[in-house]
Order: sequence, then structure tokens, then C-alpha cells
Amino acid sequence: MRRSGEGLTFQDLRERGTSVLRDSGIPEAPRDAFLLLQNAAGLDAAGLLARLDQPPSDNAVALFRGFVARRAEREPAAMILGRTEFWGIPIRVAPDVLIPRPETEGIVEEALHLSARDGVVIRTIADIGTGSGCLAVALAAEFPDARIFAADISGSALDLARTNVEAAGVSARVRVIEGDLFEPMGSLSLEGGIDLVVSNPPYVRRGEIDSLAPEVSRWEPRAALDGGPDGLSVIRRLIEGARRFLRPGGFLVFEIGHDQGQGVLGLLERSGFVDGAVAPDLAGLPRVAAARRPEGNARLASPGARKGQECSVC
Ligand code: GLN
Repeated sequence: MRRSGEGLTFQDLRERGTSVLRDSGIPEAPRDAFLLLQNAAGLDAAGLLARLDQPPSDNAVALFRGFVARRAEREPAAMILGRTEFWGIPIRVAPDVLIPRPETEGIVEEALHLSARDGVVIRTIADIGTGSGCLAVALAAEFPDARIFAADISGSALDLARTNVEAAGVSARVRVIEGDLFEPMGSLSLEGGIDLVVSNPPYVRRGEIDSLAPEVSRWEPRAALDGGPDGLSVIRRLIEGARRFLRPGGFLVFEIGHDQGQGVLGLLERSGFVDGAVAPDLAGLPRVAAARRPEGNARLASPGARKGQECSVC
């Protein structure tokens, strides 16, 4: 009987894998085949490139075939491998959490930009709906004096977030806590005391989830995507919570859908936030919304409210 890998080189495997993935409609077929082969062989990119004309072990061949079969079912590569990178930091992922995406790094960039621009010292950060914990870990690295409260409603997501926080060596400053949006912050008496609130909330319109890429619609957790009928249900609650929990002058920075910029700026303004702005992602699409809770009592003024009057929606 032929041994499974007999006569094959890494290059042959790479080509076969690429063609299987291409036939399954995967646009990044060459990249993913290479990444999966690298992991099946336990090699880094340079190591694999140097061995393309050599025969892989039977074990690597079997592993690679398994990986390619899963990827052909449109399971995301990061989920197959159980890990990815965010802000240059290794992050473990599992089916319970959204896979960290490059566009979400825009939240870290924006937080750094705002705190540097305004010379604000960030001491307390809340990450609402932390998922894998990627934002909490990246912000812990960038704001070495800050304490971070990372909350999620999903217990299994929090187990993973804890693993990532520990692996990054920041568990002394990052507290991972279970609850819906700001609920756990309330029990920690953090109302009015947070300098920076960040979030990658679910913001996809419910009716559009099934038309997203199969990697997202079939494999990623609905709870991390579903923003209700208009996509803004969680964002509305995030903004309301941030208004209560931010200290005056504190920042809210969060991810939005590419067509939600105007709507979200309107919500922020109506909730009394100032300096609302939307930053684009690498594709040039609106992706990160940011705003500031005003200093002093101005935060309670709605656009039409006269000085000294209570805001009608507060
Ligand atoms: N960016 C994700 C997508 O549409 C959505 C993530 C989210 O809802 N936070 O693929």
C-alpha cells in the first residue's frame, strides 16, 4: 500500500491544498494553504519556504489534509488553528468568540491618538464585550499604568479571555468579569470613574447576518454579531452605559459597521457626547467611532436643552 505522503514534496501539498481551497471559493486560497501547511508541519514561514522541495512527514500530510478539509467547509483558518494575532500579540480563539480582526486594531490606534492629543492620562479602562480579550490585552500593553475591566456576558468567552490575559502577562492589571455590558462595572462602583470605554459590540443587522461571508455567518457566534433589527440595538445601550460610567472628559471608542457612521454620530450627539468622529479602516470604510463625555454638567444637556434644564432623555 502506498504511504500517504510517498513521493510528495511540501510544494506539491501546497499546490493541492491551494486548488482545493480555490474550488471551495476561498479568495485567500494560496495564503491559507500556506498558513495551514506551515502549522501542519510545525514550521515558520521561512522554514517552510526553505523546505518546499523536501518530503513532509506522514503526520504533517495527515494534519494538512484535515486542516484543508475543514477550511474547505469555510471554517476560518484562525478557528482551525485556535489562534491568531492582534496588535502583534498572540491570541487564542475558539468558536465562542469573534475572531480578532485587523480593523478592530483601529480602536487601539484611536485610543492612543486621543489620549496623546489631549494629554489625558488613562488610568481606568472598560472593555465591554471583550470576547477573546484581544482589546483588553492590547490596551494593557499600550497603557502600562492602566487598570482594565474586561466584561462579557458569555462565560465561555471569559474563560478564553482569561487565558489570553494570562498568556500576555497582564493579569495583574486586567480583571475579567461576567455580565451584560456595564452591569459588572455597576457592582464595582465604577460609575463616573472610567477614563476610556472601548468596545467591539455586535452591530450587524439581524437580517443581514446570513448574507455575510460563510466564515462569519456559519462559524462565528451570532451573539457577537447580532445588533438587532437595525444593527444599533447594542450600540444604543453601549452609549447610554458609557455616559453613566465615563468620568467627565473620558472617551468612548468603539467599532461600527461601514454604513453606520452618520447614525452613530447622531446617537452620540443626542446622548450629550462631544467631539464625535469616525475613523476609517484600512479599506477606507468608516469603522471606529469615538466621542468624549464633556467636562462638568454640560454632559446632561441634550442638543435642544437650555442651560440648567434637565435633559429630557437622561
Ligand atoms: N466585522 C464583523 C463582520 O461583519 C462584525 C463584527 C461585529 O458585529 N462586531 O464581519
